[in-house]
Amino acid sequence: MANKSASETAQKIGRQIGPVILLGPPGAGKGTQSKQIVDRYGIPQISTGDLLRDHVARGTALGLEAKAIMARGELVSDELMYGIVASRLREADCKRGFILDGFPRTAAQAGWLDAFLEQEVFDKSSTTSSEEAENCPPVVIQLLVDYNQLLLRLTGRRSCPTCGRLYNIHLQPPLVDELCDLDGSKLVIRDDDRQEVISGRLTAYENQTRPVADYYRVQRRLVAVNADRTVEEVTAQILGVIDRHCHDRSA
Ligand SMILES: [Zn+2]
Repeated sequence: MANKSASETAQKIGRQIGPVILLGPPGAGKGTQSKQIVDRYGIPQISTGDLLRDHVARGTALGLEAKAIMARGELVSDELMYGIVASRLREADCKRGFILDGFPRTAAQAGWLDAFLEQEVFDKSSTTSSEEAENCPPVVIQLLVDYNQLLLRLTGRRSCPTCGRLYNIHLQPPLVDELCDLDGSKLVIRDDDRQEVISGRLTAYENQTRPVADYYRVQRRLVAVNADRTVEEVTAQILGVIDRHCHDRSA
């Protein structure tokens, strides 16, 4: 039986996963769940923020252009981001699939991604092996979190300035109020986790992401997952969605 499950795992890891898009507000656990997906399937996580910083650091043509735009205090255009994302998605390690982080942020970006994948990944004439042509279309998973639960998670965050340990005064409180269990330091709130900042972040998220969720919902491609459960339960749900998604396509 051990052999059988090992070969099943190998099969799972070797096959096409396709693009994975996770949608969810700050505090929904996107970072944690993304890491689980990366570990499970061995696909890269493509973060547009990291890509941009990398291009700037390496001084590529796209990076220099982006740097000049940001130096003027302007936002990097969609066109520039498309160039950066496209060049990354063409790399070999993305052939089996990838998980996107920070993209698409708008319905226009979601439309561009569909067109790009249609043209580059699913166009069988452009691929040399039949294996590459068996790619799955993006699976879009929305992490649903109760708003009050989210506020508890976000407003309760505290960290130790000495050892860096994280706490949540509502969900994982220290033994003594506001003091680190390990070294007794007074816990602090990161600027990002202050109540007024959090409300702003959640509102910005709602305004920004609703059109993206709507874009996929009208096409019946949005799969909702209840993210109010434990990390393990949420991971199990997400992996189930991804497994079924690609299985349905290849069957
Ligand atoms: Zn500490």
